[in-house]
Amino acid sequence: MKFFMSTLAEVLARETREGELYETLSDGRLRCYACGHCCPLPEGAVGVCKVRFNESGRLLVPLPAPPLDGERRGDRAGARRGARA
Ligand code: SF4
Repeated sequence: MKFFMSTLAEVLARETREGELYETLSDGRLRCYACGHCCPLPEGAVGVCKVRFNESGRLLVPLPAPPLDGERRGDRAGARRGARA
């Protein structure tokens, strides 16, 4: 049996979408406002968090994690019950 493990960069390349909490600065960099670092990101740069990055003038961010087994929107107890089953 073979196991294939993706690098973080490979996962981010396929599991991202454009974020909303940013603006384009006059010099072309992006300013991310998702946390207190307020990273100014030139083309191709990754933020301090290592998961948000500037790709072609768009701030790409990770997709939300899929729900856990048994988890429904707002039902964390269901997720815990499902984890024990
Ligand atoms: S550390 Fe990440 S989330 Fe925070 S401002 Fe920088 S890019 Fe955005």
